[in-house]
Amino acid sequence: MKIHEYQAKEILRQFGVPTPSGIACFSVDKAISAAQSLGGNQWVVKAQIYAGGRGKGGGVKLARSLDEVRQFAEGMLNKPLITHQTGSQGQIVHRLYIEQGVDIQHEFYLGMVIDRTRQRVCLMASAEGGMDIEEVAAKTPEKIHKILIDPVIGLTDVDITYIAGKIGLPITSLDAARELLKGLYQAFDQTDASLLEINPLILTTSGQVIALDTKMNFDDNALFRHPEIVALRDTDEEDPAEMEAAKHDLSYIALDGNIGCLVNGAGLAMATMDIIKLYGGHPANFLDVGGGATAEKVTEAFKIMLRNPKLQAILVNIFGGIMKCDVVAQGVTAAAREVKLAVPLVVRLEGTNVDLGKKILAESGLPIISASNMADAAEKVVNAIQKGA
Ligand code: ADP
Ligand code: MG
Repeated sequence: MKIHEYQAKEILRQFGVPTPSGIACFSVDKAISAAQSLGGNQWVVKAQIYAGGRGKGGGVKLARSLDEVRQFAEGMLNKPLITHQTGSQGQIVHRLYIEQGVDIQHEFYLGMVIDRTRQRVCLMASAEGGMDIEEVAAKTPEKIHKILIDPVIGLTDVDITYIAGKIGLPITSLDAARELLKGLYQAFDQTDASLLEINPLILTTSGQVIALDTKMNFDDNALFRHPEIVALRDTDEEDPAEMEAAKHDLSYIALDGNIGCLVNGAGLAMATMDIIKLYGGHPANFLDVGGGATAEKVTEAFKIMLRNPKLQAILVNIFGGIMKCDVVAQGVTAAAREVKLAVPLVVRLEGTNVDLGKKILAESGLPIISASNMADAAEKVVNAIQKGA
């Protein structure tokens, strides 16, 4: 799960991490009163969307007067912001964060992620933080320094001194950096975060160390322990089809192709998308209906896939283990009838009661294309689209 920058900063403050003062708001008038109550003579107007790269897309602007705050707020609010992470249609900005403008001496990069292979939190840092970090990672990865944090001991003073040395943090700011980094690690650990990124972490002209931007994601499997984090969810930022799928306990991820995939098991779903690609097709989604899917669940899955205007064909690939093929076949035919399916449907069944399942499909009177294996299914679904085009 993702949250907004201003919410993540609120969490970091609880762990003693210094951030600039700021106020979130939903209207231009509130943006101005926020700037007035923050005081000072420079403010940063920041669009709050889940995607990054806002600065380069015009979603972070330094205002030197209240008039400029108004102008920038008007320019962003309720308009789409396009960044390299939003796709070409952009993301509508519904919230702004008005923040104190800070005098920056240097921008560093700091990130924490879970290294699954090493089963530890990996701390990454670079002296070359800021808006071009992707380029640094791609062209000069040696400029990004990493340490793995021992889960028993936590982040140590030795770790911090090492990383601070690597990124060239002045010795006079080491105490401040130590407090900040310990707070960050605690925040990561105690909220079950999966990613925490401070880009930039800055050194101010007066030598303070401050988290100037914050991106924080959480492990969905641990959300049951954090109702206060779940409460921060902003459904405006989430894909409606993915939210609907979650309600029915389906794992659905929207993609930008045209072949809907309905599969049981995440591994088989991944393999199905791969083989579609191998045959020159493009998956419209990842969809795992789970091991014990019922006919109702299969119907919901069809409805969710059909919401996608780009959908041109569906591939059902089910291995009947716990779920028997005849039950799946009944579910698929019932769903196809209920949604009055108008796109080609290719079905590949394998496993328990497969013959009975295929018989149900064949006798349904529906134009279902039956496939004997995964390659056959992928080929048939790609051909079905080409014929229709
Ligand atoms: P994004 O990563 O989405 O582009 P950031 O919050 O990192 O957004 O902002 C982009 C840039 O804007 C930062 O690298 C920094 O140079 C500048 N900036 C952001 N917040 C402030 C602030 N409060 N004061 C001064 N400059 C800021
Ligand atoms: Mg940033």
